[in-house]
Amino acid sequence: MTNDETVRVRFAPAPTGSLHVGGARTALFNYLFARRARGVLVLRSEDTDVGRSSLDSELAIQDDLRWLGLSWDEGPDIGGPYGPYRQTDRVDRYGLSAARLLETEQAYPCYCTPQELEEERKAAEAAGHMPRYSGKCRDLSRAQRADLEAQGRKPAIRFTMPQRDVYVEDLVRGAVHFPAGSIGDFVIMKSDGNPAYNFAAVVDDSEMEISHVIRADEHLPNTPRQVSLYEALELPLPLFAHVSMILAPDHQKLSKRHGATSVAEYRDQGYVPEALVNYLALLGWSPGDDREFFTLDELVERFSLERVTKSPAVFDHAKLRWFNAHYLRALPRDERTELFARWAAQDPLVAQAPDLKDPLWRGLLADAMTDHVETLDQVPALAVDVLRDDVHIDTAMRGELNDPVAREIVQELAAVAAGSSDRAAFAQASSKDALAQLGARHSVKGRALFHPIRVAVTGQERGIELPILLPLLGPQRVAKRIRSALSGLK
Ligand code: GLU
Repeated sequence: MTNDETVRVRFAPAPTGSLHVGGARTALFNYLFARRARGVLVLRSEDTDVGRSSLDSELAIQDDLRWLGLSWDEGPDIGGPYGPYRQTDRVDRYGLSAARLLETEQAYPCYCTPQELEEERKAAEAAGHMPRYSGKCRDLSRAQRADLEAQGRKPAIRFTMPQRDVYVEDLVRGAVHFPAGSIGDFVIMKSDGNPAYNFAAVVDDSEMEISHVIRADEHLPNTPRQVSLYEALELPLPLFAHVSMILAPDHQKLSKRHGATSVAEYRDQGYVPEALVNYLALLGWSPGDDREFFTLDELVERFSLERVTKSPAVFDHAKLRWFNAHYLRALPRDERTELFARWAAQDPLVAQAPDLKDPLWRGLLADAMTDHVETLDQVPALAVDVLRDDVHIDTAMRGELNDPVAREIVQELAAVAAGSSDRAAFAQASSKDALAQLGARHSVKGRALFHPIRVAVTGQERGIELPILLPLLGPQRVAKRIRSALSGLK
């Protein structure tokens, strides 16, 4: 911890693609931990892989974080007292720390070419040894170095990994022991002058006074390297918390073939951020009771690293959809109405329909769909169905309308529709009570009343409740659909 005990955590994505759900969960846990402790969340762009990093990706990740509702206090976009927050803007700092390690002979220039290293690795494997750097360049004399430089070789800088056990008291994993000898000397500055991840992370975490490193446990093997670097540079260690992996239902690494993996894909499929945040929070953290629904603020109140589990979390798409359906239903009606209308309008047919401009239609659309969709990308097709003048009714179903009572009922409804001046009037004329009265006039109720109507206007067995569906279709469409349903009958 820093002297003043301020919690400072960081989310440090490499801007080499879009924000993955695993990254989003790491960001979320850092956010929750920082907010709960009234500390600081730093966003740092780890863009030292220049070939794969891009500003577009950096900005896209920021957009995704904002969409999730996660804010940060210092970062490449807003600056802050420990900036710059983009690693390529900090290269001179890594150079300075590397120079200190060179000076104290805890690091050395390594002239090995990628081919030489590859050959060394193959030879080690063939001999049944763990592939690790042989230390070939560690003891080169001044003259040998000068000679290699004269040949035009550009050195990388390698850290002399101390051969002693490393113990880390991880806040999630507990005591972790890394036995001496498992890690060879590793590169801290590449020959192109860019720092390697392990080195840049240590220099930055220390200069940015990061108190807790909360990250994915794929980085656990890097921790002994980083701990050794802290020690070599005589820097205070942060606390580490490694959060378990997210696995697919088949217990393999979550990948494309299991479905969407990026936050952007979920947004495009019509998930709301509240649902994704709530779901991600429960992937590896538990509140300690059965409660499942939490807003972001409620999560801040409840979150603790003690309740983060060691075992991998399994990503369950069905559960996420269920959360999404819950959050869609829970939205205030106005908000839901606008959201559904916006999604419906993604289909050009809906976008051009005059109905979309009618506030009554938009409200009915949202009421109609709320219980029928789990994700908003289902909305456009359903809205198109509503706007069709004709529907397909299969022959067997249509036959039901041969029943004299059924036919009279739908004919009467068509007459009511034809006599309704507009959608609002028809909404009254097709209300639950009005339909019950229509049934009473023909001495039927329940299925005998509703089913013929549903068949005539949708050709479906079940669906949206009629008092919502009928005004949503509107009087003209209902009259037309009934007319065409009956036209095929004797
Ligand atoms: N850039 C690293 C990553 O995206 C950060 C790892 C860390 O948090 O130390 O995985």
